[in-house]
Amino acid sequence: MRFHSFSLAFTLSLSLLAAFPVKAETQVEKQETALRHHSSILMYHHISSDTPRSTSTDAETFTQHLDLLDKLGFQVWSLEKIADHLKANKPFPDKVAALTFDDAYISVYKTAMPIMQARKLPFTIFVNATPVNQGNKLFMSWDQLRDARKKGATIANHGLEHDHMIRQQAGESDEAWLARMKHQITENQRQLEQQLGTSEKNPLPKLFAYPYGEFNPQLEALLAERGYLAFGQQSGPASGFTSLQGIPRYAANGIYANPKTLRTKLLALPFPVIAEEPRSGVLGADQRSPVLMLTLAKGDYRLDQLRCYGPAGEVLKVDSQPQADGSVTLRVATQKTLPAGRHRYNCTAPHRTESRWFWYSRQWMLPKTDGRWYRS
Ligand SMILES: [Zn+2]
Repeated sequence: MRFHSFSLAFTLSLSLLAAFPVKAETQVEKQETALRHHSSILMYHHISSDTPRSTSTDAETFTQHLDLLDKLGFQVWSLEKIADHLKANKPFPDKVAALTFDDAYISVYKTAMPIMQARKLPFTIFVNATPVNQGNKLFMSWDQLRDARKKGATIANHGLEHDHMIRQQAGESDEAWLARMKHQITENQRQLEQQLGTSEKNPLPKLFAYPYGEFNPQLEALLAERGYLAFGQQSGPASGFTSLQGIPRYAANGIYANPKTLRTKLLALPFPVIAEEPRSGVLGADQRSPVLMLTLAKGDYRLDQLRCYGPAGEVLKVDSQPQADGSVTLRVATQKTLPAGRHRYNCTAPHRTESRWFWYSRQWMLPKTDGRWYRS
């Protein structure tokens, strides 16, 4: 539904552009460059050089990221403010970013928090109550989470146990799985509210980050029914071109911490996606060469320079089919047989006139050939 209303607004603004006299057109164009419908949400885990490299960003690199945001003229907003804009389809100033930290690791409290506080930057910590209840020393305590909240952090929901939420247990019915997932979400929210002492005046926002970025349309619907916005780990700008329960974030840890590539991502614009198939990124054991169908509305992307990349940097085969209404349908496919695991297809194209890129990413979850799931 959201895609449709947005595409309507998009088409409308294009036809307005066409109908207006030259002077007014310049006016509209001015507005278009000053206001965008997107923001860039960064995702971190550990801010440390002693933790696993793939999920860590050292303090020096993290500081470079904040310097970069500053240098590029970004405003750092709280995730609630971004969520409110996305929900209301309100335009953003061009350069808005948010900082998010998954899992509530202790290094976020000890290292990242003082750095962000010195710059008065808002940030969000997605928390699983279970490791905090267990007093695991790698994680923040409830006292530290209360203190972080007092100092301006948004505390939000990451599920009770950091489950692979798309996975049904052996012999588990669809209903039983959905009930178990509902518990993961609502019980975690309840414990966060209780431990943090939230109130009607100072409520816990309904923001959820999927563990491992793994979700499917049933989970999106479950969260939507309960009024949550939800965040994945596929990259791309947060915009009206994705579901509100499948909002992309840019990983900024491990191999993604390089400030040069991060700069390109921060400045990236959303492709005007008006349809995509399949809806779910969860593949069957026999779907080892997934095909993605994307329909893009007319836009300022250079279609002839659009490229899509798959696992291990494979340049994917893209067939484009122009449609009568000016949109284009893309068929994106790998030439390989993919192994079990999480994979992504990333598509980019340069802007027609500006020195920035359009960006889209889709995450696949592919089980082993016998239908069992990969380990993590
Ligand atoms: Zn996590």
